[in-house]
Amino acid sequence: MEGLTNIKTIKNLLEKFGFSFSKQLGQNFLINPSVCPEMAELSGCKGIGVIEIGPGFGVLTNELCKVAKKVVSIELDERLKPVLEYTLCEQNNVEIIFGDAMKIDLKALIAEKFPDMPVVICANLPYYITSPILMKLLESELPINSITVMVQKEAATRLTAKCGTRSCGAVTAAVSFYSKAEKLFDVSRGSFMPSPNVDSSVIKLDLTKREEISVNNKKFMFKIIRAGFNQRRKTLTNSINSGLSIEKEKIANALLEIGLKTTARAEELDLKQFAKLSDILEKNNG
Ligand code: SAM
Repeated sequence: MEGLTNIKTIKNLLEKFGFSFSKQLGQNFLINPSVCPEMAELSGCKGIGVIEIGPGFGVLTNELCKVAKKVVSIELDERLKPVLEYTLCEQNNVEIIFGDAMKIDLKALIAEKFPDMPVVICANLPYYITSPILMKLLESELPINSITVMVQKEAATRLTAKCGTRSCGAVTAAVSFYSKAEKLFDVSRGSFMPSPNVDSSVIKLDLTKREEISVNNKKFMFKIIRAGFNQRRKTLTNSINSGLSIEKEKIANALLEIGLKTTARAEELDLKQFAKLSDILEKNNG
């Protein structure tokens, strides 16, 4: 169905299906007609498979259907079932799965639905799960080429920041470990209905262009990163000590061994330094 960014069309759908937006589920639907075609094109889904999270009324889904070979879209809100049947009735390359994107086994889903084609992810994410869903997508090491998502502008700055700078956080480190992140474009708060209190940005995480970082124990490195950023104002000596119960002296010595001060904070380290710190601490703490 065309015209899904038209306010009158949306109001008609709200009335026809007796639907009301759920703030809790992050339901801010796009009403800016240029955003979805651009997202679909830049996601790189042309002629291949795409997974969408949270189709809402299907505005981005429709654009993905025009470009991709096959679209699988995951929606939590079952009230949207009749609406999506109506708005997507002209599309024959889409399947909607009702469930929680945080709980679905995406590896199994990809193997079942896309056995014979490359896959990307493209979504206007519900903001309340931005970080956990991105962590899930990255840490499950899915066979996907890229993740193109709309997130809050502030989150976009953090997610695309460089490690070793003030804007870096624990999720930034995971994003840089698994992908090359870039901001594609900004989207104003007026582009949504209902309008949220913040602006948004579309970012792309390219998993095919990641920088190889060698580390003995990835899980342990991310524990260190999380401990460091959980108490980012503290020195790493203190934050890792309190988060992981490793002796302060061992942490301080490890920092000196990689050429850092014992007073270094998490935001001062790039990923290679975190990897080295992890290798030393794992060896000395075993
Ligand atoms: N794609 C639509 C658009 O751009 O207008 C809607 C985007 S809206 C920001 C987020 C969508 O994600 C809503 O449809 C919401 O119901 C859905 N959603 C929220 N939590 C979800 C979850 N855990 N799993 C799957 N979908 C979810």
